[in-house]
Amino acid sequence: MYDYAVIGGGIVGLSTAWQLRQRQPGKSIVVLEKEAAVARHQTGHNSGVVHAGIYYEPGSLKANLCKQGVQATIRFCNDNDIPFEQCGKLIVATNADEQQRMLDLHERALANGIDVELLDEQQLRSTEPNIEGTGAILSGTTGIVDYAAVARMMATRLEQLGGEIVTGAEVTAIAESPELVRVDLAGRDPIEARCLIACAGLMADRVARMMGIDTGFRIVPYRGEYYQLPPDKNDIVRHLIYPVPDPGLPFLGVHLTRMIDGTVTVGPNAVQAWKREGYGRFNLDLRDTWEMLRFPGFWRVTASHLGTGLAEFRNSLWKPSYLKLVQKYCPTVQLGDLRPYPAGIRAQAVMNDGTLVHDFLFAETSRSLHVCNAPSPAATSAIPIGEYLCDKIVNKVPHD
Ligand SMILES: Cc1cc2nc3c(=O)[nH]c(=O)nc-3n(C[C@H](O)[C@H](O)[C@H](O)COP(=O)(O)OP(=O)(O)OC[C@H]3O[C@@H](n4cnc5c(N)ncnc54)[C@H](O)[C@@H]3O)c2cc1C
Repeated sequence: MYDYAVIGGGIVGLSTAWQLRQRQPGKSIVVLEKEAAVARHQTGHNSGVVHAGIYYEPGSLKANLCKQGVQATIRFCNDNDIPFEQCGKLIVATNADEQQRMLDLHERALANGIDVELLDEQQLRSTEPNIEGTGAILSGTTGIVDYAAVARMMATRLEQLGGEIVTGAEVTAIAESPELVRVDLAGRDPIEARCLIACAGLMADRVARMMGIDTGFRIVPYRGEYYQLPPDKNDIVRHLIYPVPDPGLPFLGVHLTRMIDGTVTVGPNAVQAWKREGYGRFNLDLRDTWEMLRFPGFWRVTASHLGTGLAEFRNSLWKPSYLKLVQKYCPTVQLGDLRPYPAGIRAQAVMNDGTLVHDFLFAETSRSLHVCNAPSPAATSAIPIGEYLCDKIVNKVPHD
């Protein structure tokens, strides 16, 4: 029997397992990952941005853990020779309405204790000659990294400390008794553990329901589609360039992202997906779709954001209208510059009443903890999320 079993070899599960083993070197720990390698889903399909913590509700878990995450991520990268760059970011307003929302966002950034600066039109022009707007927020602490590389390094460190990672281990059922948790695996012998931590990303609701937890949410998958600029445009911007986001949505809008390998991506949008872990544009999974269609929260959230949802579909299918999203602030990008790039899929928790869950969400039983909602900036925040989970789990069964 293991002391701890962690479900999910994404950055959240690996960060948690690695820190747990550091804190309790005498306790055995296993990470169960259904894919053939770690970091195959959200952790390996994202923008690679180390967010400063500007956008989030002050006092929320996202606001606090993101801010801590920046420092923790930099430290981890420095300690482990992982390339990292604090290139900074601009949030650019392009009209009067966005200018006002940008000022509101600036207030929020200050309330979150983030070091930001306001640029007027001319300052924006001289900072980024290829970007047009009425003004911008400059965040100097925003950075870029390869989160899959971070996660793989966490896996290496965990194994060096004596932790185990089992790949190809899909959890199919979980039974909790007063003494232990039994975890059934597809095509393998079950395992037993004193405590379980589930960090299952796009499958978080299904794993929670395996233990009878129903907090009234379901994961609704939203595709984030990217393009990549040609190599001769790698120097088009010095910072990351973001639009002013819609405050009602947890997505940040199509941005120009400098990647740590020197390339530049455009994206991601946020389109309804019909397969949770399917990355092709027309992928459809009958179980995923059927469960979503039976979930009242899906219909409610879709109805309340119908205009945005339809626009996202149009932009997804019709490249010229996707292009307009980026040309709004970077007119030099042309249609031929949008080259194919792999999409990512966000695990977004939606409540029965159609509310999009903005903050990180956790649930628990006597012997388990569940990460129910860990969308962006959970990669940035993975180390403090892991710390938070470690604090909770070590207090769960103190006398075992
Ligand atoms: C398009 C996009 C852009 C993003 N950009 C950023 C960004 O710039 N900055 C940022 O901070 N965040 C960003 N994010 C968010 C970030 O990527 C995620 O919040 C983070 O990776 C979540 O990590 P995770 O470990 O919870 O999930 P995942 O990486 O999805 O890992 C979950 C793991 O659980 C495994 N699993 C699931 N079910 C089972 C089962 N039954 N048995 C065994 N294993 C199972 C899966 O195979 C998977 O490996 C972005 C996300 C997307 C999709």
